[in-house]
Amino acid sequence: MSSSEAAAPRDRIPLAEPVIGGNALAYLRTCLETNFVSSVGPFVGRFEEAFAAAVGSRFAVACASGTAAIHLALRVLDVGPSDEVMVPTMTFVASANPVSYLGATPLLVDAEPRTYNLDPALVVDELDRRAAAGLRQPAAIEVVHLVGHPADLEPVLEAADRHGVPVVEDATEALGARYVGGALDGRHVGTLGRVGCFSFNGNKLITTGGGGMLVTDDEALARRARHLSTQARLPGPAYDHDEVGYNYRLTNVAAAIGLAQLEELPALLAGRHANAAAYDAAIAAMPGLRQAPREPWADPSFWLYTAALEPDRARVSRDDMLRHLAAEGIEARPIWTPLHRTRVLRDAPRLGGRIAEQIFEVAFSLPSSSNLDDERRRRVTDALATALAA
Ligand SMILES: *Cc1c(COP(=O)(O)O)cnc(C)c1O
Repeated sequence: MSSSEAAAPRDRIPLAEPVIGGNALAYLRTCLETNFVSSVGPFVGRFEEAFAAAVGSRFAVACASGTAAIHLALRVLDVGPSDEVMVPTMTFVASANPVSYLGATPLLVDAEPRTYNLDPALVVDELDRRAAAGLRQPAAIEVVHLVGHPADLEPVLEAADRHGVPVVEDATEALGARYVGGALDGRHVGTLGRVGCFSFNGNKLITTGGGGMLVTDDEALARRARHLSTQARLPGPAYDHDEVGYNYRLTNVAAAIGLAQLEELPALLAGRHANAAAYDAAIAAMPGLRQAPREPWADPSFWLYTAALEPDRARVSRDDMLRHLAAEGIEARPIWTPLHRTRVLRDAPRLGGRIAEQIFEVAFSLPSSSNLDDERRRRVTDALATALAA
């Protein structure tokens, strides 16, 4: 917890705070007692195995951050200078930065209004158009599962497969989210593309302080990602390296917390779903406000419960709503600024962007910690109702 959080008044309701319990302290004590604190240590392997099993992937590689996992994912798919990678414009900048690290160009794709995730029709049309015109395809498609709701992946996977373009899933915001019904029934986000990436940053569903995970069913990709994450050092006593690697391994200390957090995943997820049920029920009776996305084919994680004003019916603007909530000690925040509206990526090539801009004007995330109680959820919904009535 940062010092500003620690100094905040007791009744302030934060957006998303870590809930660390269970075996965390016992595992950390083991790290210190055995002196295994760095990335050589048994918790790293145990965390990887448990994580792969939890999401239903064959291999998992623990990384220093979610951003590092995305960087490694693109690197093992051989993305490089002069390549393009499709990235949704409605996401956190860490989805796109690794594309830039590799000297490649993010091609920003507009969102669709139902889930705020990238619009599959734009992806399919662009791949088909390029194929018909004999143009070069993007080197990869990065799909983000925003604020815990699965993206509409089936059409993207079908077109990507047809045109031989690999799909990377940025599932950093969506641990615990699955597909329901249809061909993807029961599948966990992050396990459907060639590579999936997760984050254990402080405000994500589970945290290691900072950390990430790369998952894949492809053994060669997993081996290469692990190799690159440890400076591409070859086995043996000599320090020999066969390519430019990174220091991207997760430490044993962080993995110890991660394993304990993963054991608590069902309970943490249940907390998110309890929040969603309470917010959904209250918002159903509030004209002018729309519930968080929940498509019939999706079982979202509700990492951040993200409501939206209905511009034609609400009399309050998003900023007035956020100001009202802040005055009540409630931390809420707008959904991500579309990347084509950020200074760093405003000149990036893009496919559309209007829908993302419209979503940005109206959508905002409510306090979503897994340990919120009824009383605090009611404070949030009461404040929403007062702001709408103002
Ligand atoms: C959190 C996040 C990341 C990066 O994760 P870190 O562990 O903070 O590096 C990447 N993409 C999205 C969409 C995120 O929300």
